Formats: sequence, structure tokens, C-alpha cells
Amino acid sequence: MLNPQGFVTFQVMPGIATAKRYHIWTIGCQMNEADSRHLGSQLEALGYRETGTVDNADVVVLNTCVVRQQAEDKAIGRLSSLKSAKAARPEMTIGLMGCMVGMREAPRLQKQFPFVDVFMPPSDTAPLLDYFAEQGAYDESALLETREKAIRNAVQNEEHILPALSRGSAVTANVPIVLGCSHACTFCVIPYRRGAERSLPPAKVLKEVRALVNQGVREVMLLGQIVDRYGTDLDEQTNLANLLRQVSEVDGLKRIRFLTSHPNWMTDGLLDAVAELDKVCPHIEVPVQAGNDEVLERMRRGYTNREYRDLIGRIRKRVPGATINTDIIVGFPGETEAQFQDTVDLMRDLRLDKHHIAKYSERPKTIAARQMPDDITEDEKERRRKILDDIQTEILTERNTRYLGTTVEILVEDQQKSRWRGRTPDNRLVFFELDENHCGSLANIRITRTGPYSLFGEFE
Ligand code: SAH
Repeated sequence: MLNPQGFVTFQVMPGIATAKRYHIWTIGCQMNEADSRHLGSQLEALGYRETGTVDNADVVVLNTCVVRQQAEDKAIGRLSSLKSAKAARPEMTIGLMGCMVGMREAPRLQKQFPFVDVFMPPSDTAPLLDYFAEQGAYDESALLETREKAIRNAVQNEEHILPALSRGSAVTANVPIVLGCSHACTFCVIPYRRGAERSLPPAKVLKEVRALVNQGVREVMLLGQIVDRYGTDLDEQTNLANLLRQVSEVDGLKRIRFLTSHPNWMTDGLLDAVAELDKVCPHIEVPVQAGNDEVLERMRRGYTNREYRDLIGRIRKRVPGATINTDIIVGFPGETEAQFQDTVDLMRDLRLDKHHIAKYSERPKTIAARQMPDDITEDEKERRRKILDDIQTEILTERNTRYLGTTVEILVEDQQKSRWRGRTPDNRLVFFELDENHCGSLANIRITRTGPYSLFGEFE
């Protein structure tokens, strides 16, 4: 993200009264949320202030997702709605960021959306900063400053790690530790849009975590497409278990989570670190995608149904009580009813926690799009999705009743209407009502009511 090339000047803009305003709209995964936060932080270091609407923004950035067609359609809809705003206020800068832009889609998008001023690949804010410089938005006489320095100041200045509206109120934050992905599952567009896998050095991760904690963050979610491969591409010998140990030592930080793990990289050493380290939550996100071996092979996932079952056994043995979430795709090309049934059986047997169930969506340039016809009808995909969704509701309803009458410890995150909201270490969402503000602290809640997706209780 921090491209050190280029010599461009920025001058921090004067006080709030005259400050320009930015608005970022984010769709997609936690990685996009983190990218938007970094962008907001850099814009603030340049003197911009956040605004909640497009109407009075000088800069509007759409941070996009294309993992499924639905997400892409949403981004295109929003983008199209900005066309008239740009026509009315041509001086407004419009930026398009994220997986829609990818590493090489900008020229094509430029033709399709000529009113967009600047295109930014995922995790790369440099094109917007270059654009400002080209527009002469900054005082030419201050050419002493390099872009590198401006960005470094922006990111390293702890004041600006969280955008102003979040500062002092954000209790949890996403922290990317592995960018990109080199795995190339046949259905997945991410490697084409986010580039090759690269881990961030531990020192950089620790610096960001410390800065966030200084601003009130109490829980971090360490992110990567295959987060358990952390460090495999770094010169220094390290891995996710080591990083968890280092991050655990950050004073003031209460909880650490990580996502998303790939079954093949979930080592015993990593599981032992999760079990040993108090701050690391017993919460593992490990997508299976399908329960049938032939489908798994055509997805190029690199494991079998049996191996996944063994992995779940290993996790449950080493980290007792861990919440295990998974992702499933229904209607992958050629998936027969019998093959789908293997996924149903796997789900019923393993009784994991949250299942993120998606209908297969053909994505451009992926191996599946090039070689495997998208031959399951939308109705059939929906039928399969619904079957799994009903099983999941049944499993979660049953699993959550275990909490009834127990007291759980939650980190209070925020307030929704009159209710406070927080999570247990094993990632159960808990609501409770209270007049006092306990945001950012750990609270004991006695559970009085449970549902499939959340728990309700009383502050003790
Ligand atoms: N890197 C992680 C997850 C990345 S995307 C992994 O490989 O496990 C998040 C989820 O979106 C995936 O786990 C998958 O279930 C879903 N997904 C990705 N591509 C998809 C596609 N083409 N159609 C439907 N779902 C998809």
C-alpha cells in the first residue's frame, strides 16, 4: 500500500472551518473496511474531514467488492447514482477503489464510467494522492515534501490511524496482515483482483495494533485471505502463532481474532497458540466450501471431506469449546444432488457454528468461468441454499441454548437503538440494556434469552 516511489507535494490544509470533506462508501469484506480506514486516515492527515453524505463531500470514494455478481451489481448501482452528482458538481472528486478496480481493470472501467476521476487497486491509496497532486490541489512551493513522506506521516501519526468519527469510539478494528492471495481456487476472483500473497512484517503489524490501542481499540481482527499462511513469504522466520504471541503482549489490548484460515495451513502449533494465549479468542473461521471430494477437487481446495473432518476433530481437541465458522458454496458447476447431499451430511455431522452460505456466482477470468459451465439454475441454487440455511438455523438454535442461565464475558462494542452490543470470546453476539456506557470494557452478562443468531441478557 505504501508505495515509496514518486515525489509529490502535499500541504496539510488549515483548520476545520475551511477543511474539505470526504465520504467513503464501503462494500465487502473486513479487508475493505480496513482499506477504507487507512484511506480515511490518510485523507485526514491531508486535512480532510469525514462527512456522512455525498451531498457536501469534496471527495467521494466507493470501495468495492466483486466476489459475487450481487456485490458487483450493488457497486455499479451506487456508482451510476453518482453520475448526476458529478454533473451537478464537477469539482467533486470521485474515486473507485477495491476489487472492482483490481490490479488491471482501470482502463476498461475508465471507458465505462468516464465520470470517475481516479481508480485505486485494493489496499493502494497512492493513485488518489497522485491525482490530488496532479490537480494542483496543493501548494507547489512546498515541493520539498515527497509523497512517501506525506503518506508515512499520515499512517504513522497515531492521531490519524482511526478517522475522526471513530476515534475514541471504535472498540474493534480490522488489521490486514496478509494482502492478496496466490492460491487460485477455481471459483475465486480474489487472486486476480488483489494480486499475489504478501505478508506485512511483524513490526509493521505491531505498530498499527499499538496505535489503534492508543486510540481506544480493545480487540483486533488480523486479516488475510489465507491468514494461517502468514509469514511464509517473509525473509524473517515467523508464522501466525509467533505473531499472535507478539500481538498478545500489546498492553491495553484485550482480545485478538484472526480470519480467514485455510484447512491445509492450520498447524497444531497455531492451535496451541490459540489455546495458550489468553487474549486470543477461541474462534476459528475455516471455510470448507463443499462436502464432496470431487467438487473439492474441481474447486482446487487441496483437501478431502475426511481431512476436513479430521481437522475439526483436531481443533476441538486442542481448543475445547472453540467456535468454528465455515463458508459453503452451493451450486458449483456440475454439483449433482448426491454431491450436494455430502455437504448436507457434513454439516449435520460436524455441527459447526456460523455457516456463510453462498450461491455459486461465475466470476470473470477464474478457472471455473473458463472451463466449467455454470449449469445449475438459479432456482436450484436457491433451493440448496435454503436447505443449508434451515439446517444452520436449527444447529445454531440448539447450540445457543447452552448459554441460557450462564454468565458470559463480553467486550462491549457499541449501542444499537437502546441496546448495548458485544461479543463473547467465542464470538456470540450478545445484547443487553443498561443506562451506563460500558463501551470498550469487559462486562459480565447473565443470559436470559437465546436465539439462533444472538443472545440477550442482563448486566451483572
Ligand atoms: N480466502 C478465503 C475466503 C475468501 S472470499 C477462502 O478461500 O476460504 C469469502 C467467501 O466467498 C469464500 O469463502 C466463498 O465461500 C465465497 N466465494 C468466493 N468466490 C465465490 C463465488 N465465485 N461464488 C460464490 N461464492 C464465492
